[in-house]
Amino acid sequence: MRYSYGKQTIQKDDVDAVVRTLKSDWLTQGPAVRIFEESVARYVNVRYAVAVANGTAALHLAVLALELEPGFEGITSTLSFAASANCVLYGQGNAKLVDVDRDTALMDLDQLEEKISINTKVVIPVHYAGQSCDMRRVRKIAGKHNAYVIEDAAHAIGSEYRKRKVGSCQYSDMTVFSFHPVKTITSGEGGMITTNNKKLYAKLLLLRTHGITKDPKCLKKKNPEPWWYEMHSLGFNYRLTDLQAALGQNQMKKLERFKKKRRKIVEYYRKRSASSEFITIVNERTESNACWHLCPALIDFDKLKITKRKFFERLQKKNVNLQVHYIPIHKQPYYRNLGFSDHDYPGANQFYEKEVSLPCYPSLSILDVGQVYNIIVSELEN
Ligand SMILES: *Cc1c(COP(=O)(O)O)cnc(C)c1O
Repeated sequence: MRYSYGKQTIQKDDVDAVVRTLKSDWLTQGPAVRIFEESVARYVNVRYAVAVANGTAALHLAVLALELEPGFEGITSTLSFAASANCVLYGQGNAKLVDVDRDTALMDLDQLEEKISINTKVVIPVHYAGQSCDMRRVRKIAGKHNAYVIEDAAHAIGSEYRKRKVGSCQYSDMTVFSFHPVKTITSGEGGMITTNNKKLYAKLLLLRTHGITKDPKCLKKKNPEPWWYEMHSLGFNYRLTDLQAALGQNQMKKLERFKKKRRKIVEYYRKRSASSEFITIVNERTESNACWHLCPALIDFDKLKITKRKFFERLQKKNVNLQVHYIPIHKQPYYRNLGFSDHDYPGANQFYEKEVSLPCYPSLSILDVGQVYNIIVSELEN
């Protein structure tokens, strides 16, 4: 058996859903996309949802929909996937990175409060591993500076914050999801933006297809011909296909079941590691009910006198493929060149040195998880 840190769960009914769509009249964006959007909107309890090609496209459009002046400042946390910061640059803004809490890898909100300025137009908190940031406080800090809030919830579909689903946008302007195969549910590739703001919704719809509209209510031309369409802004082809949406929609039906299993796996690791002085599973905050996308373990390699690299390679030989989430964005050569310094992020650096993501996906049995844990412990103690 080969274990990896994450993996999609595709069953016969998922295959059937895609095949049914393949035999229908629509292949690209059509009725299945609509149904997928409605099902996510209903689930998270939000007014509008816009499906797009992937999570990065969702972040890109979310930033563009705000129509910020070039040179604006966008803040995100450094311990994330590059896309969380890249989307600010796509929108011709300047990215500012904030350090993270060394235990949860969530944005350090004290530091956000220090770093936010009059130039900050958008804050992009990342719900690392599926656990929501303290959104009430994020909103409060951003609100004081009239900055928008976009939640990067690529990890967090199915998660709750203060008893409400992430994506409801109670404390944000937009929330962004990803349906990449390693995420909690998948559509092959795919992303979605949720919002309660009608203007942002209209803008997102336009940007998703070239900035072009055929909607008679929006056209500038009086008495337009039947073939008439108009391009109103510089948009993209970021459409999701109906094939992908059919898969995503079918996966939504299983989300609660996936969540239960993911929480059970994390609980198992947590119990087993409780007696270890070397391994800690990332804490769950009291306001959070996470649908864990990752199971991040923090391992004290210094104390163990073994390098993380050696541990990683040994486990690979035993068919356990861990991953590290993430190399902090400020360490990437591209961001180094923009002037980010390694010294400014002690929390993220420490988290990065210790973190490995343990296998966590619904098709793992608890027997498998026990096996994985035993292998890890035996390699650490050797
Ligand atoms: C996966 C991910 C994205 C990007 O999603 P894609 O669908 O892969 O483009 C953005 N932010 C975070 C935190 C992610 O993990």
